[in-house]
Amino acid sequence: MNDRSPRKLYIETVGCQMNMLDSEMVVASLRRKGYELTDSTSDADTILFNTCSVREQAENKTYSALGRLRHEKKTHPQKIIGVMGCMAQKDQELIFKKAPFVDIVVGPGQLQQIPDLIEKARNEGGRHTALSLGRTDGALRDIKRSHETFDPLRDPTMRPTPFQAFLRIQIGCDKFCTYCIVPMTRGPEQGRDPLLIFDEAKILADQGCKEITLLGQTVNSYKHVAPDGKQTRLADLLYKLHGIDGLERIKFVTNYPKDMNYELLSAVRDLETIAR
Ligand code: SF4
Repeated sequence: MNDRSPRKLYIETVGCQMNMLDSEMVVASLRRKGYELTDSTSDADTILFNTCSVREQAENKTYSALGRLRHEKKTHPQKIIGVMGCMAQKDQELIFKKAPFVDIVVGPGQLQQIPDLIEKARNEGGRHTALSLGRTDGALRDIKRSHETFDPLRDPTMRPTPFQAFLRIQIGCDKFCTYCIVPMTRGPEQGRDPLLIFDEAKILADQGCKEITLLGQTVNSYKHVAPDGKQTRLADLLYKLHGIDGLERIKFVTNYPKDMNYELLSAVRDLETIAR
């Protein structure tokens, strides 16, 4: 490859809509650095796996896919291989043990660092990690800060259709269902600022998007408290988004049964843009 030809990125995504959205953001940030997408690992000079830890099968699938790259990395050592997402946060150093040829391991709260980490791995070699703090690794404020999102970096061309988009309104989860790893990998529940959500929805609608799906692990427990103490819940957000020109349908997933309330049900009843 000469220095002027664009870098090629292969990215494989498993898991939930959060992961699909995360991959969209990562691709957007790498496109800004001149990357193009490829659907072949042999053609790529950067290979990323956006992983899921909810089922063992999904983890095994990623480790198998990594295993198939062992030879490729040996013959093309300049190729950068990265593991991102929930499995990266959960397994951390174990990934390097099982697949020592991996260059970067990045948790779901640190995805904004991926372009820099790739460059570092390419220029300096060695292994690089970026992970959030664990649930007991510090003060709650520091743990929350270590789980960042970089959602405004959208790339409309990454969506399967220009008319539909996911929009994250919440990160993390505090429910601790016995079978689920999400509260550990995506950190404490945090509602995003409603003003940022509104601006992002408006940009999407201006790009021609007709349907938005609001995402949260427990989306109906969404809560944001502004510095002046003003509280915004999901129902308030729906009333706000309902007025955006061009937006025809709004959905929200996934709901937590205990957090359903009359205000939200009334909003669904009263606003025709909210999908039944
Ligand atoms: S509410 Fe959902 S994301 Fe949270 S712990 Fe339970 S299953 Fe996992």
